[in-house]
Amino acid sequence: MKCSDVYLHICDNLDQRLGTRRCREIRLHLRVCRDCRAYLASLKRTVILYQSVPSPRLPRAAHDRLIRVLNAHGCFPEPATRPRKRTGRKRT
Ligand SMILES: [Zn+2]
Repeated sequence: MKCSDVYLHICDNLDQRLGTRRCREIRLHLRVCRDCRAYLASLKRTVILYQSVPSPRLPRAAHDRLIRVLNAHGCFPEPATRPRKRTGRKRT
């Protein structure tokens, strides 16, 4: 596996799908490649920083427009929609 392959697929590793063949190859590569270990550490720091910031609240119209644009560019495997508001009632 080359560094460029690691850059392309390392998010699978962050996603904790550790049993895949590609993930095993990434782990082997990380053992011998300092640059890719630094890249992974940077990604993990970024995720931690991102998780520590409150999620912004978008106005409904802006959210819907963003989702339409992302869907048009194939950013989601399935069309994404806005999560439904919770009504406070329990489902039966
Ligand atoms: Zn590398």
